[in-house]
Amino acid sequence: MNTILIIGAGGVGSVAAHKCAQLPEIFQQIHLASRTLSKCHLVATSIRRRTGREISTFCLDADNLAEAIALLHKLSPDVLLNLALPYQNLTLMEACLATGTNYLDTANYEHPEIARFEYKSQWLYHERFREKNICALLGSGFDPGVTNVFTSFGAKHYFDEINELDIIDVNGGENHEPFSTNFNPEINIREVSAACRHWEGDQFVESPAFSTHRSFSCPEGIGDFEIYRMYHEELESLTVAYPSLRRAQFWMSFSPSYLQHLKVLTNVGMTDIHPVDYHGKPIVPLQFLKSILPDPGSLGESTTGKTCIGCVLRGKKGTQPRSIYIYNICSHEKAFRENGSQAVSYTTGIPAMIGAKLILQKKWFEAGVWNMEHFDPDPFMEDLDSFGLSWSIEESDPFLGRAAQ
Ligand code: NDP
Repeated sequence: MNTILIIGAGGVGSVAAHKCAQLPEIFQQIHLASRTLSKCHLVATSIRRRTGREISTFCLDADNLAEAIALLHKLSPDVLLNLALPYQNLTLMEACLATGTNYLDTANYEHPEIARFEYKSQWLYHERFREKNICALLGSGFDPGVTNVFTSFGAKHYFDEINELDIIDVNGGENHEPFSTNFNPEINIREVSAACRHWEGDQFVESPAFSTHRSFSCPEGIGDFEIYRMYHEELESLTVAYPSLRRAQFWMSFSPSYLQHLKVLTNVGMTDIHPVDYHGKPIVPLQFLKSILPDPGSLGESTTGKTCIGCVLRGKKGTQPRSIYIYNICSHEKAFRENGSQAVSYTTGIPAMIGAKLILQKKWFEAGVWNMEHFDPDPFMEDLDSFGLSWSIEESDPFLGRAAQ
């Protein structure tokens, strides 16, 4: 009997738990643990109402290694899905090593006091996971996650060599909030405000945040959006996996209103990650800001429109140059009808479920610590289609004819 433990009862954890509950033949026993037990209860109630299944719930502080190990010993899951925050990654990887549990997450480790996004600290666990004969799958969300698999699928089936990669993440949704984020506000604001880095030649080149932008026409009538180049963690692993890449960039759409709000909040110090003294008590401004911004998990009902996330790959097949664009379009309203979430949680929770499914089925199992592109993309792409995230491929380059500013 397969048993899983999901940690984190936020937007992504909720979707993953719902999707796992829809597959009783794969996920026979589902446990959900999070810091706030009442949030686990809300997810469990929704799953009961939608699927008739029972999941068990636990209160856990995943920063506490002894507590995490005790829960793993008690439940003996086959795989732990870490859908809490990136701060917990190393503690939960240690807990998996101590108990011989397979591990999966959707975002790379971050130190709470340093906004540095890198896999290196998790890659250091590779030998220990190998020795324990357990598998860690890193970044099994949409971006990172599906974008890594789109890249490896393109490289496998369409190219002899890939030379350029552009990952484009457009959220064409609207939720009528003056300012909100698509996922955990603290993690989201740390990520988008960081200096931009992109791969050029054989190294990362740094530039100021939001300094390079261009317009992008999404397919299927989704519309035209201004996209901004920024650093994103899958660039780190993909440039290692595909050394033929001469340029790799990540782009995300932002509305003028979002950028204006972010600029003001940054200027007044509200996005700072270092503690300040407030009436004799240290508080982190960004954590305070998070506490008053809308909870992204609660925005499902009010969000309309679609996300469009995909990869443009350019390279060679034989002697011929070739370009393809692989993308998924996801409707916020459809995601809400199915799971009560908006599309960003939905597009992250489903790949987390698929990653866990492939580990359990041993289709994606190898002892060690791996990013998504390490494994055969075909079963993952089949599952994306089957479980709500269908994808399309155009043999074209959507960037042609437009110059970056
Ligand atoms: P939320 O803030 O909605 O949820 C996070 C959950 O984790 C909350 O329930 C929170 O509990 C819980 N949590 C936080 N700290 C702890 C702790 N120490 N112990 C136990 N539980 C804890 O975030 P999201 O669901 O939006 O995002 C979840 C993860 O997914 C993040 O790491 C995010 O970066 C990642 N992500 C990845 C994407 C991708 O495409 N790869 C896209 C979107 C998100 P509490 O309610 O008490 O705060």
